[in-house]
Amino acid sequence: MEVFVDKTRCTGCDHCKDVCPVAVFEMYDKNAQEVNNDTAPEDMKWKGTDNPDVVKEWGGVNDGHTHFKTKSVAINGPGCILCQACLIECEGECIHITDDSGTKYQSVYK
Ligand code: SF4
Ligand code: SF4
Repeated sequence: MEVFVDKTRCTGCDHCKDVCPVAVFEMYDKNAQEVNNDTAPEDMKWKGTDNPDVVKEWGGVNDGHTHFKTKSVAINGPGCILCQACLIECEGECIHITDDSGTKYQSVYK
């Protein structure tokens, strides 16, 4: 299983880390060196700019979660068991999973 996060869309809401039963995700400060330590393609790596549409949707939300301070990094993609929990909890709709047969999944917020 390959898992990566589109860092330009990640709100840092922590939901993926909270729901994943096999610790695929780790949260890092967006200025940390480790923030691009997954297999996200070049245009989805963190380069300092959040997607403006995602900021518009989530920037003012006060739900007890901190937003736009951290980024999720898929540090353990091969451990994914495709339970799909993260795929419906991801605010930024930015989690990408490819299973061993090549089928692709992308998160869609419930
Ligand atoms: S689909 Fe994979 S990465 Fe997502 S919560 Fe389930 S095990 Fe974790
Ligand atoms: S659930 Fe999505 S938006 Fe929230 S921290 Fe994880 S990858 Fe980022």
